[in-house]
Amino acid sequence: MEVQLEDPAQEIKRLRRCINDLTSLLALPAIWRGSEPSQIVQTLLDVLFRMLSLDFAYARLSDAFGVMPVEILRVAEDSKINLSAEEVRNMLGDPLAAYAQGSLPQIRNQLAIEGIAIVPAQLGVHGEIGVIVLGSNRTGFPEKTESLLLTVAANEASIGLQEARLLSEQKRISAELNAENQMWPVLTEAEIDRARPYGRVRRVEIGEILYRPGEVGRPCFVLLSVSLEIVQPTINGERLVTILRPGMFTGEAGSIAGQRTVVQARVIQAGEILEVRPEDLRTLVAHDASLSEILLRAFMLRRLMLIDRQLGNVVVVGSQHSADTLRLREFLSRNGHPFSYIDLDMDDAYRNLLDRFGIAVSEIPIVMGNDGTMVLRNPSTSQLADSLGLNDNIDNSSLHDLIIVGAGPAGLAAAVYAASEGIDALVIESHAPGGQAGSSSKIENYLGFPTGVSGQELATSATKQAQKFGAKMALARAIVQLRCQHRPYELVMNDGTVFFARTIVIATGAWYKKPTAVNLDRFVGHGIHYGATFLEAQLCEGEEVIVVGGGNSAGQAAVFLSQHARKVYMLVRAATLSESMSHYLIARISGNPSIELLCNTELADLEGESALEKVSWANKLNGEVRSVNAHHLFIMAGASPNTSWLRGRVALDEKGFILTGRDLPPVVDPDRSPVWPLSRPPFMLESSLPGVFAVGDVRAGSVKRVASAVGEGAISVSMVHRALAELE
Ligand SMILES: Cc1cc2nc3c(=O)[nH]c(=O)nc-3n(C[C@H](O)[C@H](O)[C@H](O)COP(=O)(O)OP(=O)(O)OC[C@H]3O[C@@H](n4cnc5c(N)ncnc54)[C@H](O)[C@@H]3O)c2cc1C
Repeated sequence: MEVQLEDPAQEIKRLRRCINDLTSLLALPAIWRGSEPSQIVQTLLDVLFRMLSLDFAYARLSDAFGVMPVEILRVAEDSKINLSAEEVRNMLGDPLAAYAQGSLPQIRNQLAIEGIAIVPAQLGVHGEIGVIVLGSNRTGFPEKTESLLLTVAANEASIGLQEARLLSEQKRISAELNAENQMWPVLTEAEIDRARPYGRVRRVEIGEILYRPGEVGRPCFVLLSVSLEIVQPTINGERLVTILRPGMFTGEAGSIAGQRTVVQARVIQAGEILEVRPEDLRTLVAHDASLSEILLRAFMLRRLMLIDRQLGNVVVVGSQHSADTLRLREFLSRNGHPFSYIDLDMDDAYRNLLDRFGIAVSEIPIVMGNDGTMVLRNPSTSQLADSLGLNDNIDNSSLHDLIIVGAGPAGLAAAVYAASEGIDALVIESHAPGGQAGSSSKIENYLGFPTGVSGQELATSATKQAQKFGAKMALARAIVQLRCQHRPYELVMNDGTVFFARTIVIATGAWYKKPTAVNLDRFVGHGIHYGATFLEAQLCEGEEVIVVGGGNSAGQAAVFLSQHARKVYMLVRAATLSESMSHYLIARISGNPSIELLCNTELADLEGESALEKVSWANKLNGEVRSVNAHHLFIMAGASPNTSWLRGRVALDEKGFILTGRDLPPVVDPDRSPVWPLSRPPFMLESSLPGVFAVGDVRAGSVKRVASAVGEGAISVSMVHRALAELE
């Protein structure tokens, strides 16, 4: 049968293009091998967009497929359809379900009314992986070749996605296996021999308790020929953590700093043990790099395991809607202290228990020792820190070479470099290590972490690193005054304690400015948040939430929260994000159907009885006011320096940031701050007080980024050395 072709040349050109397209589709697996499912879907839509002039492309992976939820809608910038991404999204409804229920034709008809034709394709033999829907208002869309291309693309993607899921499963299992071996390693004879000089061997008998929870400065025990049972005593009996065999060793993250133990160790098989005291343990890890790596990695993995399994020695009992409960949970999480949490709204038994003990509502939340030995009634953060012994080894009697105020990235970097270079360094932190970065769910632009790192992980590792070198850290303690009439300088803490320091590094960073919305203060802790960590995200599951701000911190929070909340409204005062946010984040936000970006918009009003219930905002250009019922509002709008305690002590700029080095005004106004007393010019990071340095966000002119804060913290130490040398 002969086929009459209208324009053979045209047809051949079309077929050639189709073959080219098929070839590039078949090449995709090589491109996306080893990629995450979301990257595979993104790449696929990018390629289909380039190939077929589409108006939109939509893809969604089914939750049942068992990977991170992926839903992407791309609408062509030059699209000729007059529908916004949100309208297309709403018209598509749930194509996955529609496919399964055979109701796709309704969607097709609805879009046809708008002059848009769609071609869907299932991912997976029975659509078990997901669905792709392409849309265009081009006449004759989809052509046969285009449907063919989509089918091929969908098949290739299905195979790629299956592989990606298997790979991540394999990675997870081997990581778990690996983690288990790294958490409870067995030292070789040679390694034990290298550890022997740092400890003393002694015999222990069955039933002997080597340590209980809450004991300070307990040794690390290397098991030569004994076995130990590690348990968590609770009022309901002991919870087994693990059994340690010969060749293994005790200890976890707190051991390096000599902090209190959180579990109990009992001998279950008699024999010999090597006992290494905390100060000798620090010497060992400072001198023996490979043993240090084995010990520190095991200690940190054990601490993470205790946190994950809620095997801590304290229990927080309180309502998830209470600001104080959130404050205590946040403090324990940010300080990496394992605890379990009882939500009073969900647990009648505990509520009756508290009633029986006559604990008044105002005394809730309470923090109890797991074994019932300690009961704190709505403790302040510093009371809790002291009861857990977090500041046990802080001695304010001695004169310190260096005191670092603030344990954000800048302060922690200064602590690591100072302590590793033999400077006796004390860090004083008003809340928890990590600072602003610690409240970031994922930092993606910090060097060396291509898949990003959570602020918490970064802070915990840096803290352990600083403690490994011997830096001391006082937590939940704020410096409220600097006395600088003479040297050594005196730093006064909020509990009146005075510390003496030869040199000081001020790394107190910044805190978020409050937008001028009505009732803001009324809802702080009752729906208003200044950070978006996993704790806050849990409270927002399936809800509509609002994020205020146009910087990276706001962008990250919106992207992170969109994985938990049903919808995220992002309110930005500026006309666009381009001036204030990194490009990768802008792309994430614009491609995310769960985030509605509202530029030229300001918070207007907040309503609610005891907690936030409704949020209103206004468009600055047309005055239009909108509001939604929402219980959670995230404020990330502009920062102010933490320098109120330094007014009149060091030179500050008009916004209160600390002036240093060449930025110091030549002739200082004596009323505003002291005159520079030395003949040499101030060092680059030196404030108007000799030997007092400022690093990170608190410094005038600093780049408000983690990497630069770390950089400044590190280099300040070389100047501290020179300032100390001047005092000799
Ligand atoms: C949510 C969020 C996300 C971010 N994401 C990124 C990102 O992806 N990439 C990036 O490069 N940057 C990011 N940033 C910015 C980055 O976190 C900051 O630039 C960095 O943390 C500054 O470090 P710092 O040590 O100077 O100050 P801070 O981090 O502000 O730390 C200062 C510390 O000092 C303590 N302190 C303050 N006053 C006192 C006092 N009187 N006594 C004792 N302690 C005190 C505070 O509690 C705090 O822990 C983000 C910021 C936020 C808030």
